[in-house]
Parts: sequence; structure tokens; C-alpha cells
Amino acid sequence: MSTPSLLILPGDGIGPEVMAEVRKVIAWFGDRRGLTFTVEEDLVGGAAYDAHGVPLHDDTMARAQEADAVLLGAVGGPRYDDLDFSVKPERGLLRLRKEMDLFANLRPAQCFDALADFSSLKKEVVAGLDIMIVRELTSGVYFGEPRGIFEEGNERVGINTQRYTESEIDRIARAAFDLARKRDGRVCSMEKANVMESGILWREVVQKVHDADYPDVELSHMYADAGAMQLCRWPKQFDVIVTDNLFGDLLSDAAAMLTGSLGMLPSASLGAPMPNGRPKALYEPVHGSAPDIAGQGKANPIACVLSFAMALRYSFDNGDEASRLEGAVEQVLADGLRTGDLLGEEGGSPVSTVEMGDAIVAALEKSL
Ligand code: NAD
Repeated sequence: MSTPSLLILPGDGIGPEVMAEVRKVIAWFGDRRGLTFTVEEDLVGGAAYDAHGVPLHDDTMARAQEADAVLLGAVGGPRYDDLDFSVKPERGLLRLRKEMDLFANLRPAQCFDALADFSSLKKEVVAGLDIMIVRELTSGVYFGEPRGIFEEGNERVGINTQRYTESEIDRIARAAFDLARKRDGRVCSMEKANVMESGILWREVVQKVHDADYPDVELSHMYADAGAMQLCRWPKQFDVIVTDNLFGDLLSDAAAMLTGSLGMLPSASLGAPMPNGRPKALYEPVHGSAPDIAGQGKANPIACVLSFAMALRYSFDNGDEASRLEGAVEQVLADGLRTGDLLGEEGGSPVSTVEMGDAIVAALEKSL
């Protein structure tokens, strides 16, 4: 097989700072584990606007379509706030998601033991937590027609439509089952089949896909409101949760807070398989460009590093090396290293972005 390719788009604000640390990690895997990638770098967001007058150049879009995986830092910043909507930095990211047809958004909620005190829940409820929320990203109530604000009699009515086709449900279900096979082998599907027809169809199709092609994966169904309660009560009961666009939006943000800081949260968006069998894929931290700390060496690079770990696991089928990298992050946290965002009320002295990156590479070296 040819060397896999990675397109790196650092973007704006802290994006380039955290990505520089990921590049050290990528270099380490090449030097020490023989895991080499063809790495290309390009512009997105405000950086692309400054260079080309658009937040994503057509050539960059074409390179993203060709790459085995795209790794993005963050986009946006106050400098671009007054730009026309069509060229705002965020449009670059939206174009990538749309044209690559990234229909499955993966948001892990993983709680490292050393940070369990950061959660708003009790330590024993979240310590060691490792769940994955798979949210359908390109359909559902945010896209369904009819939509709009209409006149009805002597008042106005706001309308949005929840709409899912069987094929849309089928493909997100498969994405969830495939992921579960790389994890603990369990999927919980969440909808509101008790009150919504789209939920009844969702449940039927997920069950059908399971019975036909994934009998080895354990499948359960839960109403999304009950699921939200269970996420707060005992989140460790879940492995993979699959749900629609709207419920996924809410449940993934709620699950994110189980783990504490924004600087720790990776994500992935996956599309259909390419001819080489790998899914189209974009990996990025959940956080934005953090203009308040950009250029000061304060950013936590862990969310971006863990996004690369997701790429190793889900694009490059290398769960062992992904676990090695997650283990290195766990080790530096256990050793007490903290960027500013990870210092609790008791304070302490923060390490810089570069020091955190170096410590992760040193922990990788120790893992050999
Ligand atoms: P943000 O995520 O950039 O920052 C929110 C807060 O979290 C800030 O106080 C920031 O300093 C802190 N923070 C975020 N990431 C951190 C990290 N890695 N280490 C330490 N602290 C971190 O959200 P915001 O302030 O609402 O938005 C800033 C800009 O980013 C805006 O232009 C927004 O549109 C853009 N944005 C981009 C993305 C993306 O690229 N995917 C996502 C959200 C926001």
C-alpha cells in the first residue's frame, strides 16, 4: 500500500501553535514506529482569506478530497468579524464538511483520571470514562424542508421539518457499528420513537442494518430524553451512542462537559469510503482559535494531539498506536503537567504549549 497522506490545515489563532506540537508527534511516529505519512500543509480560514481572498482556495479543496485524512487546527478571529458572510473564516470549514459530505460527526467524551476533578459530576462517575457520540451531521431538522417563518391567519408561525431518508439512517448506523467494532462492541441508538415518526423509522432502520450485517455488535435503543438523563447519571454504561443531528448536537455538548476543559476535546467528521476503503475524514479539536490567548504560548495542544490519535484509529486502522498516544497524554497529566486551562482553583504553574508537546513526545519515547 502506498504511503498514506495527511493534509494539515493549521488555520488561525492558536491553530498553528497547537498544530506545531502535533507535527512533532507525527514526526516521532515516523522516526520511531515506522509510521510515515506524506504530509502536506495548506491554508484555511482567515489565513486563506489573507492570502487568496477566500477562506478556502479551490486547490486546497481539491487536495482535501484527495488526502487520506485532513487535520485542521481552528479558524476565525476578531480581525475577520466584519467580513462579508460568504468569505468569513468559518465558511472554509463549512465548505470542507459539505463538499467532502462528512455525514458522521464523532465526538468522544474521554475522562483522564488525573482530570476527573474538573468534571461537574462526581469523580467516581467520570474517572476512566470513554464514550463516543456519533451524530448525523448533514440531514435532519437543521436541513429539512419546509422551513421558514410564515404568516398564518393573523400571526406568524416558525417551521422546521425533521426529515430522514432510510439511506441516511442506514449510512450513519453503519458508521456507528463500524466504530463499535474498533471499540467495546456496543451501540446505543437514541431517538424519540415514542412521539416522532422519523424516530420510528430511525429505530427500524438501525435495527435492520444491525440484524443484517452487524449481529456481533450489541445494539440497544433509548429515547433521547432518557439518554440525556443516563448520560448524567452513569455515563460509563455507554460505548457508542448514535443519534440524529439535533439530539446529537445537544447530547455531544452535554457529554463534553463530563470531561472538563475545551482544550482536551478532539473530534472527527467522516464521510463515505474512498476507493482505498478509508472514509473521507476531517479531524479537528472542538475548540476555536482562542484569540484571547493566541500567540502567547498558552494554548493546550492536547485536543489537537488527540484528534491525530483519532486519525490513527479511524482512518489508518492503527488502534495500538492511537492507544500509545492517548497513553502518553494520560502519562503527562498523571505527572502533573498542566497548561493554564487545566489549572483548577488551587492554581499552580502552567507549562507552555511547546513544553506540553515536548512532554508528550518524551512520554511516547518512554512507552517503547
Ligand atoms: P474558543 O474555543 O476559541 O475559546 C473559548 C475559550 O476557551 C477561550 O477563553 C479560550 O482561550 C479557551 N480555549 C479554547 N481552546 C483552548 C486551548 N486549546 N487551550 C487553552 N484554552 C483554550 O471559542 P470562542 O472564543 O467562542 O471563539 C473564538 C473564535 O474561534 C471565533 O472566531 C469563532 O468563530 C472561532 N471558532 C472556531 C471553531 C473551529 O475552528 N472549529 C470552533 C469554535 C469557534
